Amino acid sequence: MASHQRSPPASDEATATSTDHESALETARRQLDRAAAGLDIDDAVLERLEHPAAVHEVTVPLERDDGSVEVFTGYRAQHDSVRGPYKGGLRYHPDVTRDECVGLSMWMTWKCAVMDLPFGGAKGGIVVDPKELSADEKERLTRRFAQEIRDVIGPNADIPAPDMGTDPQTMAWFMDAYSMQEGETIPGVVTGKPPGIGGSYGREEAPGRSVAIVTRETCEYYGYPLSETTVAVQGFGSVGANAARLLEEWGATVVAVSDVNGAVYDPDGIDVGAIPSHDEEPEAVTRFADDIDEDDGVRRLSNGELLELDVDVLIPAAVGNVITADNADAIAADIVVEGANGPTTFAADAMLEERGIRVIPDILANAGGVTVSYFEWLQDINRRAWSLERVNEELESEMVTAWTALRDEVERRDISWRDAAYVVALERIADAQEMRGLWP
Ligand code: NAD
Repeated sequence: MASHQRSPPASDEATATSTDHESALETARRQLDRAAAGLDIDDAVLERLEHPAAVHEVTVPLERDDGSVEVFTGYRAQHDSVRGPYKGGLRYHPDVTRDECVGLSMWMTWKCAVMDLPFGGAKGGIVVDPKELSADEKERLTRRFAQEIRDVIGPNADIPAPDMGTDPQTMAWFMDAYSMQEGETIPGVVTGKPPGIGGSYGREEAPGRSVAIVTRETCEYYGYPLSETTVAVQGFGSVGANAARLLEEWGATVVAVSDVNGAVYDPDGIDVGAIPSHDEEPEAVTRFADDIDEDDGVRRLSNGELLELDVDVLIPAAVGNVITADNADAIAADIVVEGANGPTTFAADAMLEERGIRVIPDILANAGGVTVSYFEWLQDINRRAWSLERVNEELESEMVTAWTALRDEVERRDISWRDAAYVVALERIADAQEMRGLWP
């Protein structure tokens, strides 16, 4: 099969400037074609996967705080449900488009299949800048959006989750609006809720935790004991900070971390527990860097310089499209673990592969988020909360199982980790389609 693909730029890439940027839908289709080229899959199955099952477009009228009314556009793209209900985030962002939702819904289909979760892919959102809404306006917009798409979602049909511009509070409003109309409390209609109303412990930390788990497994596999492994992490948010803290706890030396304003580098290792994450205190990394004494070998770097550090493991966990054709030749890490969605462009991916740098794809590495969303859904349906210990144990088990399935393909077919992820996903989806058949 073709030897390189990249994941769709899934979020946050308003800042991306790479020249080899392409739309999420183009990338998703390209990935499907490339992955399919190396597999014995019926053309009819592929033809079905090229297209979303449905794309719902709605208008969402909102009464602003000043009494005026504004009308926003909302979407819900549902790609494929052959393995289970649709699952995927809702984003509030001015750049949301129909095509972006379709591309990202395809990508969710592959991600759920890589993790062997009984879900298909969806994505949706509203074309709005949430920073321009008051909390009350955001609540009214969310409740009306829930009403507009009520007929096409549900705990057994399509389960939204937070994404860019939405959070646990948004999911709480959404769940309440849906439940009020149904006449009963239905927590399983969305995931990513606060724990008090059916959210799962460990959901917020899950993507960072999964990044740490696959980093650990990959290091062990390639003969890098964590106690002798150096790590650089770009972005100190939910994903980056949680991954960095766990890897440090497990013995790795985190030599560099960054926020949007820049990076701090200490060859002897940074005490990452001492720096608040983006959520706890935005831009704390650069404030921490202001207090450092550069005489001790500690240095401030730019985000670009962090990416080029000579470390064992590089974890881009900030935004998409940061490793591009412009800097791929300067990447000096042996292993790249994609914490962010789509940090490596298509061209850069090929360059890294040619240089023997192993890239663990986002579609596996940060899939802890959707995996714990699945746990949340199970807890909601059973009306029984799991302890944090149980969530983390089960996440560990799911991640190691998925990582092992990819490793088997890497060994068996002598392909990249990204190719292996698409092989595993596509085979599972195609098998399900073939077993169920096409009705009528
Ligand atoms: P976040 O907002 O919590 O943190 C982002 C961090 O990146 C912050 O430290 C910020 O200062 C830094 N940053 C922002 N722009 C930057 C830039 N241009 N260059 C360098 N650093 C920059 O975000 P997050 O939730 O940790 O998400 C990070 C990435 O992981 C995104 O690509 C997101 O789509 C992806 N992701 C997140 C989740 C999740 O549930 N949080 C799940 C899967 C994937």
